[in-house]
Formats: sequence, C-alpha cells, structure tokens
Amino acid sequence: MAGIYIHIPFCASKCVYCGFYSVVSTVHREEYLSALTREMELRKDYLKGAEIRTLYFGGGTPTLLTPAELASLLADLHKHFPIVPDAEITLEGNPEQLTADYCRELRALGINRLSIGVQSFHDPVLRFMGRRHTAAEAIEAVHNAAAAGFRNLSIDLIYGVSERNDEQWLSELQQLPELPITHLSAYALTPEENSILYKQIQNQKHAPVDDDLAARQYGLLTAFAREHGLEHYEISNFARTGFHSRHNSAYWDSTPYLGLGAAAHSFNGTSRQWNASNLAQYLRDIHNGVTCHESESLATNDQYNEALLLRLRTRDGLDLQKLENDYGTERCQELLSYFKQEVPSEHYTLTKNRLCLTEAGLWFADGIAGGAFIV
Ligand code: SF4
Repeated sequence: MAGIYIHIPFCASKCVYCGFYSVVSTVHREEYLSALTREMELRKDYLKGAEIRTLYFGGGTPTLLTPAELASLLADLHKHFPIVPDAEITLEGNPEQLTADYCRELRALGINRLSIGVQSFHDPVLRFMGRRHTAAEAIEAVHNAAAAGFRNLSIDLIYGVSERNDEQWLSELQQLPELPITHLSAYALTPEENSILYKQIQNQKHAPVDDDLAARQYGLLTAFAREHGLEHYEISNFARTGFHSRHNSAYWDSTPYLGLGAAAHSFNGTSRQWNASNLAQYLRDIHNGVTCHESESLATNDQYNEALLLRLRTRDGLDLQKLENDYGTERCQELLSYFKQEVPSEHYTLTKNRLCLTEAGLWFADGIAGGAFIV
C-alpha cells in the first residue's frame, strides 16, 4: 500500500505566510505537465508495484489547472500505477476557482475529496494574508463543491493571526456547523523562513507571531470541535466519523509514497528523496532522466525519531508493541522513563500498548517528541 503526491507549483500570487514552493507565472505550464508525465514513466517502479490507495494533488494551486489537464494527468497516473478503484483522490483548491461548473467537472473526473484553502471567514484577515478571495466567495465555493457531490470536503483555516482577536476567531468557528464540510485542517500562523511575512517581521514591518494568542485560539478551536462532533485526530486535523484524511494518515504511519513534480518528496521506508525546489532545475533534471535531485538514507535513529514525531502528533499515538518490535525493548523502556520523568502527567496517557498525548499535550507534541530523540 502506498500513496502518490503530485505538486502543482503555480499560484496566481503569493500569500504572505506561505513557504511552499510555487511560482507566480504559468509560462512553463505545458512543459511542466509533460515533465510530470515523463517523471511518472521514469519512476513507475519506485513503489515496487504497491497498490496506490491515495492520490493527492497539492501545491501551489492545483485548481489553476483545467479539467482537461487534470484528466490527462489522471489518465497517465492510471497508466503507470496500480491505483485501487476506491482510491482517495484529493485536490487542493482555492475558493476563487471553485465555481459550480468547475466543481462538477472535478467530480466527473473521479476526484472524490477537495481540500479548500479558506484560511479565514473574516475579510480583513484574508486581505492581510494576501488571499485572493473574500469570505463570501469561500462560503460559496464550499457550497458549490457540496452541490457537485463532494461529501469528503475539507477546509483549511489559520489561527494565531494578530489581525483577528479571540472573539472574531470564535465567530469564525461558529460558521463551521453551517457548512457541509466533513473535515477541518487548522494551523497556527507560522512565518516560514522564505515567506513574505518572515521578511516583514525581520524588517520590523510586522509584529512577531504571538505564541500566547496562538495557544489560546488552539484551545478555543479544540473545545469548539469537541462540542460540535469533530474528532481531533491529529494536532492540526479534525474530522467527522469516517472522514479522516487517508493520505495524511498514511504519511503519519510512515507508509511509502512517491512525490512527483518540483519540490516533491518521496519516501520508501528507509530513504527520502526530493526533487529540486526550482522549476527550471526540475525541468532540466527530468529532461536529462534524473529521477531525484537529492536523497538521504534514514539511519535507524532517524527512523525512530521520525516515528516519534509523526505518531505523537496523532491522537492514536504510539503503538508500543510495534515500537518494541521495530526498535527493541531497551529503547521502548527509555522512552517510557523519559515520559515518566520529564513529561507532565496531564499531557499524556499510557495504557498497556499505547502512549498518546492528551489534547493539552498535543500543543507541545514537537517539544515532547524532540526531548526523546536519539541523536
Ligand atoms: S498559500 Fe497556497 S495559494 Fe497562497 S502562495 Fe502558498 S501555495 Fe499559493
């Protein structure tokens, strides 16, 4: 079992917080789509014939592609990989492109999950973020998607933004039950190093991110989700029953995946490979038959650290029997002693076979996992 990620690196403009690789030009669009097809041919054996259970078109802005372009990519993916009939096929999209017609065409292509970059239902916040849609357009996009038959429907929101106070955040959350969504991804504002916001903070044109504000709004979010039947199944993800993201869940389980396109990463269980985060270089590499730009083998310690980091961010937590089978009894016992000595008891639960962070503990997941890393 495996997944495939396809990166579409085109955006109409750059959002202030964004650190994903994308370009604000579609000059190389045709060439890029041909390169993706060529890369599928070059890397068709990477996953060793494993069944593909999930496809994920991320970006960038995949909804800048026409239905015909997406249909062609999907046909090529089906040609080169054994994609199971009920595969989860997700497309990330921005509200301004999700018209009723476009949503219907996406659904007709077999795309069965949409992840819509709403980010906020408050226009001043959207303007600060550099988003191209309004709150009303975001709501319309969600309804268009639902009317087109998308039941597996997710939106993204960003909290911890100083342009929005706690009351406004709560009023945004109160819009959620009114929408036909089955999944929510919510992230704390993080100015990535290569983002516009990062430079603004460096140049003192914007205040640094307020961690207390983010922590408070995370608390409001988790309480709201609990009251409204959204299961908090990973630090940033909430779902109605049966609507966990299969693609992301496989990633947290360290399931192998192939990443196609500029800046895309791949993982085969023991090594990680990545393509150039540069469109011209990616096109050159593919033209020359280069199947990855760089790679690293993951030593046992790296695999262990990664398993801790990914699994502790989920509410399911760590399967201790599996951890022991994979990394030995001694390491498992060291981990348990670390928890007993260093981690506040209200931040985790320990049952016979499972070590899980509580909702309060999840906020500190990276720090808690980091404290147990083997270096
Ligand atoms: S957040 Fe999305 S739309 Fe905005 S620049 Fe980044 S990839 Fe593009």
